[in-house]
Amino acid sequence: MLFLTPSVGASTELREVSSQRTSSPDSHDHLLLLYNTHTDERIDIVYRRGDAYIPDALAKLDFFLRDHRTGDVRHFDPRLYDILSDLTKSVGRPGGEIYIVCGYRTSSTNESLRAHTTGVAKNSLHLQAEAVDLRMPGIDTLKLRKAALALARGGVGYYPHSDFIHLDVGRVRQWCFDCPANLIASD
Ligand SMILES: [Zn+2]
Repeated sequence: MLFLTPSVGASTELREVSSQRTSSPDSHDHLLLLYNTHTDERIDIVYRRGDAYIPDALAKLDFFLRDHRTGDVRHFDPRLYDILSDLTKSVGRPGGEIYIVCGYRTSSTNESLRAHTTGVAKNSLHLQAEAVDLRMPGIDTLKLRKAALALARGGVGYYPHSDFIHLDVGRVRQWCFDCPANLIASD
C-alpha cells in the first residue's frame, strides 16, 4: 500500500511502485502486444495484474480475437493469454509482438474453412474460444513451436506450410500438419 503526503512528489511515487514490483513477483503487470493479420488491428494491453485478470482488458481481447468473417465475439479462456505471454519470454522476446492468424471461429466459419482448406478440425478449440493460431515476426516458427511444447500447457499444432503454430488450453498434446519428417527429427 502506498500513502502519499503533500510533500511527496510523483517521482517518489514511481520509485515506490517499482520497488514494490521487484519485492513481490505476483504484483507485476502481464501484457500482450498483438497484431491481427485479418483485421489489421493491433492491441497493446495489460490484461492481468498480479493474480487478477482485468475484466475490461479481457473484453477488449475478446473483441480483438472475434471471428473476423462474422463479427461474432466470444469470451476467451484467459489462461491462453498467460501461455502467449510466457511464450514471448521463452523465445527471448518478453512482451514481443505476436501475429494472430486466427482467434475465435463460429461453427459456420469453421465449416467454411474445412470445405476450402485442409488441416481444420471439426471440433476445433477455436470454436470454444480456447485456441489461437500465431506466429512472431523475427522468430523462426519451428523455434516457436519448440518453446510452446516445452511450456507443456495445452495443445500445440505446427503448420509449417502456412508458417504458424496453433495453441490451445486443452489437454497437453501435439501435432504437426503435413510436416516433412526431417523437419521434426530433432525432437
Ligand atoms: Zn488453430
